[in-house]
Amino acid sequence: MVERYPILRDAETMIADPLVRNMGTVGGSLAHGDPAEDLPAAFMALGCEVVARGPDGERTISIDELQTGPFETVLDPAEIIVGARILRAPMGSAYTKVKRRTGDYASAAIGVALNVSDGEIRDARIGMCAVGGQTLRAR
Ligand SMILES: Cc1cc2nc3c(=O)[nH]c(=O)nc-3n(C[C@H](O)[C@H](O)[C@H](O)COP(=O)(O)OP(=O)(O)OC[C@H]3O[C@@H](n4cnc5c(N)ncnc54)[C@H](O)[C@@H]3O)c2cc1C
Repeated sequence: MVERYPILRDAETMIADPLVRNMGTVGGSLAHGDPAEDLPAAFMALGCEVVARGPDGERTISIDELQTGPFETVLDPAEIIVGARILRAPMGSAYTKVKRRTGDYASAAIGVALNVSDGEIRDARIGMCAVGGQTLRAR
């Protein structure tokens, strides 16, 4: 996992401190809708479908459509996130964050996932956190 998606290791190790990051969950981080949360930006760079389960069964939601505003998502109150499917593994990925002090939320952070062939970037996906009212994709 870490070898294939180093962006997730980068983002995880930049979340707060060991106590917070060991208690927090991927599902909680995605569901919270916090525009300053790191994992949604990393998953946005990777490109994924979030899997939500509710009383009517399971559905998938594009990571681009999950958040609708600060602390708001398209999730129904009765739905829980049970997974995230990365659709296309990038050849390389990384995440970095600027923060005011150790353990803080980002002042700004960015995740990038790339595919390269013949020495040229063929596909670049960029997710950003703490730069707007919700996690943003740079197009
Ligand atoms: C002091 C502190 C510093 C932090 N710093 C950072 C930081 O630098 N970067 C960062 O990214 N995050 C940071 N966080 C957030 C933290 O890492 C967790 O991601 C966040 O608190 C969510 O925690 P949780 O998974 O326990 O979810 P909860 O707090 O339990 O839940 C958050 C919300 O999501 C809902 N929820 C939880 N799980 C699911 C699910 N599977 N499906 C649907 N809804 C769900 C809950 O009902 C609730 O509304 C920080 C938190 C604290 C307390």
